Amino acid sequence: MHLARFPRIFLAHLPTPLERLERLSRELGGPDIWIKRDDCTGLSTGGNKTRKLEFLMAEAVAQGADTIITQGATQSNHTRQTAAFAAKLGIACYILLEDRTGSNDPNYNSNGNVLLDHLHGATTEKRPGGSDMQAEMEMVADRLRATGRNVYIIPGGGSNPTGALGYANCAYELVGQANDRGLIIDHLVTATGSAGTQAGLITGLKAINAQIPLSGMGVRAPKDKQEESVFNLAERTAEKLGCPGVVKRDDVVADCSYVGAGYGVPGPDTLEAIAIFAKLEGILLDPVYSGKAAAGLIDYCRKGRFKAGEQVVFLHTGGSAALFGYDAVISKALATATVG
Ligand SMILES: *Cc1c(COP(=O)(O)O)cnc(C)c1O
Repeated sequence: MHLARFPRIFLAHLPTPLERLERLSRELGGPDIWIKRDDCTGLSTGGNKTRKLEFLMAEAVAQGADTIITQGATQSNHTRQTAAFAAKLGIACYILLEDRTGSNDPNYNSNGNVLLDHLHGATTEKRPGGSDMQAEMEMVADRLRATGRNVYIIPGGGSNPTGALGYANCAYELVGQANDRGLIIDHLVTATGSAGTQAGLITGLKAINAQIPLSGMGVRAPKDKQEESVFNLAERTAEKLGCPGVVKRDDVVADCSYVGAGYGVPGPDTLEAIAIFAKLEGILLDPVYSGKAAAGLIDYCRKGRFKAGEQVVFLHTGGSAALFGYDAVISKALATATVG
């Protein structure tokens, strides 16, 4: 089915800009690096979840929902964008935050995205790391349904076939922008977590035969597991879009060697990437997703895996609000001059 036939609430600032990163390209001395600014989707400091929520929230409204439940890690960008979207629609928002890092830093636990969740009027509840968050959401939904609420549950990261439509759309948008300026994209790089971004992108790219290799930089799971979950979601997204089978297993490539110590824990290469983008390009990355993806991008350039003359697009998925939950580790890295 054509994308325009799916219910959608047009709220994101689209198209997001496609810009050249002149100083970063010169610094790395390899390919021409471009950035697709999905950090500029416009909703409460922006980010990739806004594109998914345009389709998910439309489905919620179509079902008459008056309450949204979703979940994420403590510094979840997804829950923050969901809270903002729900505020805009006048719908109640319940958020379950999983303590995946065990950090007791006060800023991690109440500043950054957590502050914004609350500012948008969402109700948050915490759950221990390793909880079955889907089951936890179902329990909260039962509790609220018993009081007469019409509840719509959005999975973590908004990653199901409905949410992934937002990134099939992003693939169309990016290819259109590239066509308009005669740009042949040799590689597309993005962070990959709950899989909806990469799955939607690869489905969109394959559906229009764009022939752009896509690399997902993992932030949590090992390679095999990450690729399986992206492929599984891409297959279901392709089915929903009416082009079943268009994505092959080999089209799904994840590199999970920049995860470092674990989800939500930025290592020296991530902190360096954040400082490099900030100092050379005035662009804010985040410590959980885009900083790790950028660390992978920088390493690929340094190692010659991306070569001079090639055109590489980095899809910036947002997340800068999380910087304010990680000020201690960032300040320390800057002070010890291990970065930039
Ligand atoms: C959620 C998120 C991602 C990962 O996207 P998925 O669709 O979950 O794979 C990447 N970057 C940022 C900033 C995010 O918030």
